[in-house]
Amino acid sequence: MTAASEQTNTAASKPVLKVSKEALPACCPPKEQEHWNQHPRVYLELSDGKASCPYCGNRFELAG
Ligand SMILES: [Zn+2]
Repeated sequence: MTAASEQTNTAASKPVLKVSKEALPACCPPKEQEHWNQHPRVYLELSDGKASCPYCGNRFELAG
């Protein structure tokens, strides 16, 4: 752990994760993510075509 690896924890600093319709509902953390166990898994419905995780701020967007 170094100070340099510590990012400001704002939603704007997070990459947007594209989710296909077939993969709905999106879950966070995503299984393929390194820190998949950083918080309890939540499902996001992307009802507006996008959503952000209330725990870690990951942003999801509907692809296509
Ligand atoms: Zn999350």
